[in-house]
Amino acid sequence: PKRVVLITGCSSGIGRETALLAARAGFTTIATARDPGRLAGEPFEARRMDVTDEESIAGCLAGVIADHGRLDAVVNNAGVANTFTSVETAGMAPFRAGFEVNLFGVVAVTRAALPLLRATGGRVVTVGSTRGLIGQPFNEAYSAAKFAVEGFLESLAPMAAATGVRVVLVEPGPVLGTAFGANAGVTRESLLAEAGPYTEALTDYLDQVARGGHPGAQTGRDVAEVLLRALTDEAPPFRIMTSDWGTEYARTKLADPSGAAVLAMTRSLLLPHTLDLHRRAVLRTVALVDAIGDEQWKQPTPCAEWTLAELVE
Ligand code: NAD
Repeated sequence: PKRVVLITGCSSGIGRETALLAARAGFTTIATARDPGRLAGEPFEARRMDVTDEESIAGCLAGVIADHGRLDAVVNNAGVANTFTSVETAGMAPFRAGFEVNLFGVVAVTRAALPLLRATGGRVVTVGSTRGLIGQPFNEAYSAAKFAVEGFLESLAPMAAATGVRVVLVEPGPVLGTAFGANAGVTRESLLAEAGPYTEALTDYLDQVARGGHPGAQTGRDVAEVLLRALTDEAPPFRIMTSDWGTEYARTKLADPSGAAVLAMTRSLLLPHTLDLHRRAVLRTVALVDAIGDEQWKQPTPCAEWTLAELVE
């Protein structure tokens, strides 16, 4: 029988691209969205699922089992950018709303799917983010939720493996051309209007982002290809970075327990410069981290005094 994969958040972006690739690769592909009418006419089966609504999740999965008799994989893709401002000025509501989709959505869908996946020896594939490994300014709510996804899945993975279910996390860096930014429903003006003490830093951050040219940027299709591998490879690892850039970026965190290397990189996002400065700061940080031997990391924080000026010389 054909393997059945269910993907969340398929109205746009990475989810839609993944559904197209999975259908072409021969999966019975259940593309879910809050408004599945938008998916009519595509080569996959569209069903309604709101990942923040447990009844909607249960109803959708029951329908899949009734019609197809099995579930071999879920792809937790639905996500929201929700806020590019600060929790201090924006308040708790957008923070909680982001967690509802980005963390609790993943937890609820995974929880509901696990019994079905045990029956097939299936897998849970989840779209994380490099921002779930390294925090970023003006991404507090988003990063915090994606960090939490890491903790949830890293804890679940050995338990799931003990019952024959594989857990895989796919970690994209920046992705261009999806509806992610637009879906956040904010404008430069609306963000700056409530930035309070962070107005200057946010201006520089938004300027950098608007100038574009991030060295690690990928398309939704690039990420979808990695997700397809996570679905089809015999034994994918727990964590898959989608680019060499992402691998280098995340490595600094693991290599420097003091956190100084990460701050040196991410502070470069708050300067009135182009992303090229951020790129240079990251590359230099990676080189410095590489140059420090394993033994030295056991000494007190060797890179605590690195300054941004040194990094981007
Ligand atoms: P996108 O906005 O195009 O896709 C996200 C989809 O999730 C949208 O179709 C949206 O309608 C859907 N969604 C939102 N709330 C939902 C809910 N309650 N129930 C069901 N669906 C819901 O953006 P994308 O870039 O394709 O994002 C997909 C995933 O990739 C997200 O998990 C995102 O965090 C992650 N990601 C994105 C980037 C990026 O830079 N765009 C980088 C790393 C990771």
